[in-house]
Amino acid sequence: MRAERMLLTGSRRRTVTPGTTYNFAGGPSMLPASVLAQVREEFAGEELAGESGRPTILEAPFSSARFRSLIEDTELRLRRLVGISDEYVVLFLQGGATAQFALVPLNLLGNAGRADYIETGYWSHRAIEEAQRYGWINVASSGAASHFSSIPKPDGWRLDPRAAYVHITSNETADGLEYHWTPDVGSTALVSDMTAAFLTRPIDVARYAVIYASAQKNLGVAGLTLVVVRRDVLGRAHPHTPSTFHYARQADARSMLNTPPMFAIYVANLILQWLDREGGLAEMEQRAQQRSDIVYAAIDRSDGFYRCPVERQDRSRINICFRPANNDLTPLFLEQAMRHGLLNLAGHGRIGGLRASLYNAMPVAGAHTLAQWLGEFARRYG
Ligand code: PMP
Repeated sequence: MRAERMLLTGSRRRTVTPGTTYNFAGGPSMLPASVLAQVREEFAGEELAGESGRPTILEAPFSSARFRSLIEDTELRLRRLVGISDEYVVLFLQGGATAQFALVPLNLLGNAGRADYIETGYWSHRAIEEAQRYGWINVASSGAASHFSSIPKPDGWRLDPRAAYVHITSNETADGLEYHWTPDVGSTALVSDMTAAFLTRPIDVARYAVIYASAQKNLGVAGLTLVVVRRDVLGRAHPHTPSTFHYARQADARSMLNTPPMFAIYVANLILQWLDREGGLAEMEQRAQQRSDIVYAAIDRSDGFYRCPVERQDRSRINICFRPANNDLTPLFLEQAMRHGLLNLAGHGRIGGLRASLYNAMPVAGAHTLAQWLGEFARRYG
């Protein structure tokens, strides 16, 4: 936890004692304390406002050597951390993962005009709805009939041999499911929306043609969308694809075809430095496992007081979705949890119930505190 956390409540600044609050928001989510301190230092110091002295990074032209070296360093750090080879381009775009729901088909459908999607919950459904505006979309498998309680087994996927790509959502942020394996789709391009699980475990990039992720979960703040594209799929874009979202054009321009999201890139750079200091993706994986084991164990030992609808093998390590068996208790739970310093535990607006999001910045102590609280609330109202 940060040494001292300031919460802005209206016009008043309130200082909360260290360790008393944990933010379980689904995203934008909590940032590491040391990164927030660095940001404060950069922008609250004497350099602020640029009236005199050196301008802040936000006041420099994006074409300046200073910003160029920041974006290059960010790319390099990301390549090293994740293991992204020169076979791939790394793009720093805007528009969020939601924009990618349209931009993936625009950039990749090509002459085939058709693609396979696997429906595993709310976010893959949104991706499908958007893609349907651009081509023939085959929902090769859907977990809808079982209320998205598991990821459909790949032997039941009805893949279209002429599909330009297969799209999956590696972690369903609203429903609490996660792929703990990488599908084998043969020579077809595999595309993954990794928004919630990106940087929470090592990945074998070579298995994917495109990986995309909004930054506001594990890579910093909203405004930046990371897109990693294998070079061999770069030539397929529809002629009407906007230049700023055209993968090949943005690759040629090193993501600076127009003004990039400079602040978000600056924060991403700090996050990547933090990840290095903390031990990299293997360490993040170990922590994610530990945190989620602690919380699921509390749910499972509640004798049915809490229910998690997701089958064990597909449970997300990142977004734990559950609810009291007596759903009438949910508002009371949320109110009391908040007073206990456990913030933002409401489920996604479309799903309801409860959700504990455990991104990289969440200390393991946060998971312990939540687990204890789950037990306490169940004893009180069980
Ligand atoms: N995909 C997934 C898996 C998400 O979790 C989210 C955001 N919660 C999105 C897409 C949409 O991201 P954005 O709001 O940045 O467009």
